Amino acid sequence: MVPDDKLHAHASAAPTPAAKNTPPTWQGACFCGTVRFTVTGEPEAMGYCHCDSCRHWSAGPVNAFTLWKPGALEVTQGAESIGTFHKTPRSERSWCRNCGGHLFTHHPHWNLTDVYAAVIPDFPFRPAVHVNYHETRLPMRDGLPKLHDLPAEMGGSGASVPE
Ligand SMILES: [Zn+2]
Ligand SMILES: [Zn+2]
Repeated sequence: MVPDDKLHAHASAAPTPAAKNTPPTWQGACFCGTVRFTVTGEPEAMGYCHCDSCRHWSAGPVNAFTLWKPGALEVTQGAESIGTFHKTPRSERSWCRNCGGHLFTHHPHWNLTDVYAAVIPDFPFRPAVHVNYHETRLPMRDGLPKLHDLPAEMGGSGASVPE
């Protein structure tokens, strides 16, 4: 049996090393808030995609992406309201059936999920690269690397193009 004073000492203690090492978690939601989710830890990559598919799907000129391993994403509310569409087997695009707001896109061939930076507003988005820049409609002269298509390790050419 644990003495009572010991229990109190433990409860009031400063954060334990284990608690300090807990990876950070950020909240995300669809446009109406029906679907809520979290992402935990660090994404595998962050940047901007200029491809035609991202532009058409998002109805915006460029997609700010954060790519996560599947375990990092947890839907905490409204899972039954998530719709998914895939035009190609490479991108399973999910949105909220209630408001139409986009949520994330799973890429099975990479086993990574793009959680759009726009739906995790508190997450410290730090883009490192522009991909599919040969399809751009919105040149962004921010000094970051511009890849013609994708990094070589993701199946692309890895070739850079000028800003
Ligand atoms: Zn919604
Ligand atoms: Zn794209």
